[in-house]
Amino acid sequence: MILISATPTMHSISSKNLNKRVILDMIRFTPGGISRAELARRMELSRAAVSTIIGDFQNLGVVQTSEDSSLAGGRKPFMLEINPGQGYVVGIDMGATHLGMVVTDFSAHVLEEGEFPFSINDGPNTCLPKVDSILQELLKRSGISMRQVRAIGIGVPGPVVVEAGAVAAPPIMPGWDGYPIRSTLEDLWGLPVSLGNDAEFGALGEWASGAGRGTRNLVYIKVGSGVGAGLLLDGNIYRGTTGCAGEIGHIAIMESGPICTCGNRGCLEAVAGGWAIARQAREAVKSGKRTQLSTFDIDTITAREVAVAARLGDLVAQQIVTEAGSHLGVAVASLVNLVNPSMVVVGGGVAQIGDLLLEPVRKAVRERSLRSAAQAVRINAAVLGRRSTSVGAVVQAINITLDQLVDV
Ligand SMILES: [Zn+2]
Repeated sequence: MILISATPTMHSISSKNLNKRVILDMIRFTPGGISRAELARRMELSRAAVSTIIGDFQNLGVVQTSEDSSLAGGRKPFMLEINPGQGYVVGIDMGATHLGMVVTDFSAHVLEEGEFPFSINDGPNTCLPKVDSILQELLKRSGISMRQVRAIGIGVPGPVVVEAGAVAAPPIMPGWDGYPIRSTLEDLWGLPVSLGNDAEFGALGEWASGAGRGTRNLVYIKVGSGVGAGLLLDGNIYRGTTGCAGEIGHIAIMESGPICTCGNRGCLEAVAGGWAIARQAREAVKSGKRTQLSTFDIDTITAREVAVAARLGDLVAQQIVTEAGSHLGVAVASLVNLVNPSMVVVGGGVAQIGDLLLEPVRKAVRERSLRSAAQAVRINAAVLGRRSTSVGAVVQAINITLDQLVDV
């Protein structure tokens, strides 16, 4: 039996209900849907046993049947699907400088979304009320009341201690160390909240409905202001001992390079993240280089503006992005040697630059990773674009709701 779920919360399910939970994930994540007969075959259960379980799900209103319209003529098997009307969920991507939020139905179909300026440096006492007001605004826009929301997932750019519902010593989240984020929000909203690392949720989002559907070994690299990786290894999110697994942003690239947010020198994040790209743009303008970058307010210039200039053909901006891509590639090449994934998905705000950033990554992997590992891996842009993390947070919010439903 293959456990498709990438959800660590599954471990809290009793073995009696594990079959039920796996069946739900097969219904959710099998591309093209799945029938009762196919479920019985894959689970090595009798058709009667599967029908009983599906009957229970239908009574709970979690699963419904639909006729597969893709089969023209002949007998059409009844395909199973999650009942989208079971409730609403919300996914939040709390970034360093932006907050992304999606509201979806219970089959993770996005109904409303938005991206808002945000400063994680303001700390929890300012940021969490702001998250709440954005949520209320988005729900109001969707015509959904708080009572109709089943669960909320929230991704943050730091190492998450899942049991504590908090972050531990996060380099780019000053004032958040140990703050009880999950319980604060659960008390505020009166519903289950799942707190996760943003890159881990990004991996989950791309695995569930993006570039990596069905992939069992996937690395998602989030290139935003900082840089982090989510590791989906052998079908499970890998967090390590204290939630720090995948902190690729703090791999040393240049031993005597620029100072990083973690206090060390020359980390990947300090030479290839959004802040590093913006810093290099400022330095280029100050050194008098001829570049369109000088038309921006140089004190507040962002990686997004460097990307715009690069796309318009500005050579200095292009060089900054290409160099960031090369540094990123050196780290990704090591990561490919370390975990041998079949797919690396590059996402986050800075990754929206596209091939200008991705090509140097592909080149570095071709040149530096072991041949067998390099040949086995595809390096793609995130299909979900800037939404990977918030969609992954939705997947996790649905996970915890389903866990509660079956574990009774
Ligand atoms: Zn660092």
